[in-house]
Amino acid sequence: MDFLPVFLNVRAQECLLVGGGDVALRKASLLHKAGARLRLVAPGVSTELKNLLESNGGSLLLRGFEQKDMEGVRLVIAATNDEQLNARISRLAQAANIPVNVVDQPALCSFIVPAIVDRSPVVIAVSSGGNSPILTRDIKARIEVAIPAASGRLASMLGGYREKVKQRISSFTARARFWEKLLAGPFAELVYAGRENDAADCFEQLLSDPDNERVQGEVFLVGAGPGDPDLLTIKALRLMYAADVVLYDRLVSAEILEKIRPDAEKIHVGKARARHTLPQQQINDLLVDLAKQGKKVLRLKGGDPFIFGRGGEEIDRLASEKIPFQVIPGITAASGCACYAGIPLTHRDFSQSVRFVTGHLQDGSVDLDWAQLTGEQQTVVFYMGLLGLEEICRQLIAHGMPSDMPVALIQQGTTSRQKVLTGTLASMPAIVQAAEVQAPTLIIVGRVVSLHRQLSWFA
Ligand code: SAH
Repeated sequence: MDFLPVFLNVRAQECLLVGGGDVALRKASLLHKAGARLRLVAPGVSTELKNLLESNGGSLLLRGFEQKDMEGVRLVIAATNDEQLNARISRLAQAANIPVNVVDQPALCSFIVPAIVDRSPVVIAVSSGGNSPILTRDIKARIEVAIPAASGRLASMLGGYREKVKQRISSFTARARFWEKLLAGPFAELVYAGRENDAADCFEQLLSDPDNERVQGEVFLVGAGPGDPDLLTIKALRLMYAADVVLYDRLVSAEILEKIRPDAEKIHVGKARARHTLPQQQINDLLVDLAKQGKKVLRLKGGDPFIFGRGGEEIDRLASEKIPFQVIPGITAASGCACYAGIPLTHRDFSQSVRFVTGHLQDGSVDLDWAQLTGEQQTVVFYMGLLGLEEICRQLIAHGMPSDMPVALIQQGTTSRQKVLTGTLASMPAIVQAAEVQAPTLIIVGRVVSLHRQLSWFA
């Protein structure tokens, strides 16, 4: 290890910053965040830096650096573009035993400033020992994604409980077990979801009976998006790693299933059309059973769980059984397919509104309020419409839509198997019949479809 990692307390202490440009501004805001009092020396400074200094209450010396500027400071940062000056500042500071950092010149530094992931009071520092700032930034970005935004809030709450737990549980090992148990249950997720009162109840319950081995289970109803695993939300990904057991649908792509924690149990519950693997009632029962066994259950659905996903029915049961649950939105097929096909769902010239409609056949026909769907200035997106395509086109024409209205059919949108077929209400059924289409498919009807040729980008 080339450097000793430490977190330095600079609160209310004077820190010298030399330089007035953008780099100095970044260092100044960092020092300000950590509560330092700034002493800034530079012949000129930006308005932003001036404003920051004002709110910091620090001092601004509008001139060149002088040796006496270093008197009484806790640390020094040189952020000028004058190499000789930087070297001199470094020499003087080191002679006076004041920690010094010269931006981007590791050889002149007695300490380096890491890249940070700030979830105060949780702060994660990353350094490559001055070898590669870009690598450091890349690692920081990965950590940013992995650490929930409310981790700081979680840490503060846990900090606030420490004394109470110490008084209730005297043995150090028993306390450690208590904290482990608390964090293994729904407590953290409740904090992340902003339900701090419920989290506090959860804490009190465990504290009143720390030896109770029963763990409270919970259910995450999560949208997995339309297929491309990069379209998962950060939260979906995190819960896919936290879950003990995953119930997933046919629509969830293989690439996405690979992102689930390898040792989690995976149960396929869903639903090829007319060939339901598990009836809805049984899925609902299974969710309740697993959660009652104390498991973290992930219910993973294609697209968004609240758009033609029966998400409402599933959590209805959970709510009546008082099982904690969360619903995490996903990118619905309409958004995913439209974007990846270069078809804007709304457009100032062509469409002021968009409708998501089910094209599912009931008794061999599509039963919809057709008159509502034929307006010129709108886009209509049919989910589950492949089998009913001919009927859909026929009905729209019969209810007054021009037969040359553009139509697109997107197969397996956002995946490497995506295919886009375009035509008109009149021509589309024959085009699709000739094309050997594979489910899932989405149908978009409206003038916006004509933009596909020009805006298509995903091959
Ligand atoms: N909850 C899902 C929709 C479930 S209904 C969502 O929000 O997307 C299932 C229908 O969604 C399919 O019949 C198909 O019309 C559409 N669909 C889902 N994923 C798709 C994809 N990758 N490409 C095209 N259509 C898709």
